[in-house]
Amino acid sequence: MELRRKARPTLTPVEMDRGDVLRFELLDGTIRTVELLEADARILFTTLDAGVLPLKEVRGGRTFYEFSCRIRVDGAEHVLRREVPTQRTFDEPWVIAGMTIFFDGAADIFTFLREAHGECRPKKHARFAIQDATARICPPPLHAWCPLPKRGMDIFRAFLGEDCWMGPYFGASAHGGLDINHPAGTPIRAPLDFDDQYFFNTVAGGANNNRHRGHHRWPDGSEWQLQCHHMTRLTVAEHSPVAAGEQYADGAGVLSGYHDHSHFVFRVVESDGDAIMLDPWILFRQMYLDIAAGLVPDRRET
Ligand SMILES: [Zn+2]
Repeated sequence: MELRRKARPTLTPVEMDRGDVLRFELLDGTIRTVELLEADARILFTTLDAGVLPLKEVRGGRTFYEFSCRIRVDGAEHVLRREVPTQRTFDEPWVIAGMTIFFDGAADIFTFLREAHGECRPKKHARFAIQDATARICPPPLHAWCPLPKRGMDIFRAFLGEDCWMGPYFGASAHGGLDINHPAGTPIRAPLDFDDQYFFNTVAGGANNNRHRGHHRWPDGSEWQLQCHHMTRLTVAEHSPVAAGEQYADGAGVLSGYHDHSHFVFRVVESDGDAIMLDPWILFRQMYLDIAAGLVPDRRET
């Protein structure tokens, strides 16, 4: 199948099957051709019984895996490989032929993991987010969503060290978000203006957690949805607009298990309604860059 996308002010999520060809137009009009040749995943190490797939959650169970793909970009082959859940889950994206490429997932992960801990399964064999390498992931700087770990994102801070994006919760269930351990009441701030925001689940309303969603609609027709779960309370009125950098909640604290933590989710909804989940690390990485560039207040932990 041939797919066509045009670089825009915000990054473009693209899901591809093996054999698909993407024509990606850079901001200067150059068209790059990206073919997906292979997309795979494999267990590197597990404490669970790997003879039974998909793996079955065991309290304290640990699994480490990698997912990889082989792509051909304007005739040149590249192998992209990611490792989960180690510090390498926070690796930099690839920059190839004028494109920044975030390799975000491979469907083969679900030959050994379950999708039982939040939505995260790619709808096709591989999922990417692509941007023209001369552009940011979005025009405005991103404010720190919460106080950021001082040295950079740390896998140790993702719940039990496994709940990064698609990390194997209890060794077996892909984690549909990124957890950051911090105390109950930690301020949660809007990374960018929220046009609308609300709880879509509350413990008070009978759900098993408090889950909140903020929306930002872009002039290019796409919409970003940023979710935070486990928050203790909202500090603004639901459905009121929230400005970038403004605190809107006290984080963590509600049903957050062994460690108080907040759970962050990133979803891009295209103008045709297609919703694509992406690694929240893509946002946090930009927050660190924007702090380093002095574009937003330095809200790293002291
Ligand atoms: Zn979580």
